[in-house]
Amino acid sequence: MAIREGRWDCPQCGNQGNRGSELKCPACGRVRAEEVQFYAAEDAAEVTDEAALARAKAGADWICEFCGATTPADQKRCRGCSADRTEKRRAVKELLDRPEAPAPAPKKKSKAGLVLAGIGLLAIAGGLLLCRAKEASMTLAGVSWERTVEVEKYTTVVEEHWRDRLPEGARILSTERKLERTDKVQTGTRPVTKTVEEKVQTGTKKVKVGKKDLGNGYFEDLFKEEPVYETRQRTVTEDEPVYREDPVYADWCRYEIDKWVKDRVEKASGSDKSPDWPAVSATDKQRPGKKVETYRALFKDADGEEHEWTPKLDEWQRLEVGRKYNVVTRLGSVQGLAAAE
Ligand SMILES: [Zn+2]
Ligand SMILES: [Zn+2]
Repeated sequence: MAIREGRWDCPQCGNQGNRGSELKCPACGRVRAEEVQFYAAEDAAEVTDEAALARAKAGADWICEFCGATTPADQKRCRGCSADRTEKRRAVKELLDRPEAPAPAPKKKSKAGLVLAGIGLLAIAGGLLLCRAKEASMTLAGVSWERTVEVEKYTTVVEEHWRDRLPEGARILSTERKLERTDKVQTGTRPVTKTVEEKVQTGTKKVKVGKKDLGNGYFEDLFKEEPVYETRQRTVTEDEPVYREDPVYADWCRYEIDKWVKDRVEKASGSDKSPDWPAVSATDKQRPGKKVETYRALFKDADGEEHEWTPKLDEWQRLEVGRKYNVVTRLGSVQGLAAAE
């Protein structure tokens, strides 16, 4: 309950640091009025004088309705104009050293982050510049095509797998007992002791959190009880499951089976505009499989350098050897033809 004397500055003559107990400015004699704000000097000593303590505890000064002067609570007549005491009082205010729950300041982007973002943008711009498509007039020097067909044959092959996953039509040649997997089976539990840390409140401590403006030139220290914690270690025993590993054996089979497999690739190619598929006859032992078609166009630019393009069939069919085209390239490879004007 420490009481300390406050200070006030005179609004009339500007004299600073008048003592809280002074009812008139010692410099100009002006009565301490309502507009005067009390403030606590950080190094103010604790008040021990009985009379001063009594004044501090008497309550806030009352404010004169006629002249505005403030007069100690126990005095019945105004210090300024001798008017009778009224109910109007100076405010009693709690002033905290640290305002509670301050709003967090908005996060600012760090300079380093901005620089990194800048470098990233430059890199993207550079990449776009490098990858930018170029357009040039080129002569179509020639065309070619290639068509391939995989030929499959029906034959007997030897494969291996677990017995319960054999394909239909498999004829087993030999089997072998093998470890297929291990199964985890819980057989029980065992106690395991661990050390855990926990925060325990061991008591409280008085912390000075601010002061109270008593409204009469004095201030009172404000305290708050804060919890005091201690980290303690505790051992706990928990049951952990215990497992057994059970081996599981199964039949690994070598088997033969009749099926279609890739045998060879038949190819047809040409430098004309009449592509055709290679002939593959279908029998009960042979059939055509996967087909692949590739069409190429060879352009020559103004420097005589060659650029190859692999367009789709319909684009390729419209090309005319010897004609000039506006060819679009990116990083040296042909992307296509510029749209006709
Ligand atoms: Zn003054
Ligand atoms: Zn008055």
